[in-house]
Amino acid sequence: MFDNLSEKLDKAFHVLKGHGQITEINVAETLKEVRRALLDADVNFKIAKEFTNNVKEKALGQNVLTNLQPGQLMVKIVKDELTQLMGGDAEEIDLSGNPSVVLMSGLQGSGKTTFSGKLANYLKAKKSKKPLLVACDVYRPAAIDQLHVVGEQIGVEVYSDRDNNDPVAIAEAGVKHAKSLGCNIVIIDTAGRLAVDEQMMTEIANIHKAVTPQETLFVVDSMTGQDAVNTAKAFNDVLNFDGVILTKLDGDTRGGAAISIKSVVDKPIKFIGTGEKMEAIDVFYPSRMADRILG
Ligand code: GDP
Repeated sequence: MFDNLSEKLDKAFHVLKGHGQITEINVAETLKEVRRALLDADVNFKIAKEFTNNVKEKALGQNVLTNLQPGQLMVKIVKDELTQLMGGDAEEIDLSGNPSVVLMSGLQGSGKTTFSGKLANYLKAKKSKKPLLVACDVYRPAAIDQLHVVGEQIGVEVYSDRDNNDPVAIAEAGVKHAKSLGCNIVIIDTAGRLAVDEQMMTEIANIHKAVTPQETLFVVDSMTGQDAVNTAKAFNDVLNFDGVILTKLDGDTRGGAAISIKSVVDKPIKFIGTGEKMEAIDVFYPSRMADRILG
């Protein structure tokens, strides 16, 4: 991913490298290219503009204070700004509860069930936790089956109740079940619709209220571009979630959603999904992502 963006930035910096120093004119030329590249990568227009304005201010201000070549300086400034824009440092999830409840939200197909399994697997293997997965999709029996398959694959218990059509009651019973099993993490997988609708929002808000999660995570398919930003905003308005999970970053995406979502909802991106396998999960490091963007 991001090939396009880094190629374009390379080209933009190449223009600058031909000049002896950073001036208003060559910065403007370069930043026009940077802005265009960000827009092409699906970054929101306003954010791309703010970003290039920040970079311009820093570039012009720092010129006399450094021994770096203008091109190197621009790369550094753009990289630092991009890192800051995506949150600066990596953010951990809160595991302080006993048990810690993690609530998954997001549209159908965003990767919630897959990520629930990946997170359970990660916390079990890397943090020595004992997780329980809870299936709260009462509309699609296949979703319950899918979570059971995932649980079996990673050796994590799954709580479901096919005779109950009240997701709030299932979530509460799931937490109770976790306590009785001595599990210290409860990961609640919820139903998602193909688009944001009031019923889905009310339902997840009710689950949220009932189980008071330590972590409410919004799962989003990074390939959905600008739509991802609108969906993130709608979910955040209702849930005031704690973090974002960007899935499908292994696909053919230029990943501008990472930048836009963070800027619009101001919530950290905590993990990324990089494949369909249970091991395809990574902590989100803004600096690594910036490196990847710039090539
Ligand atoms: P849910 O409806 O939100 O629970 O979404 P699922 O977990 O069922 O995922 C929808 C589809 O996306 C499935 O085919 C998953 O295998 C796939 N998927 C989920 N996460 C990733 C990822 O990080 N990379 C890729 N390539 N596919 C993923």
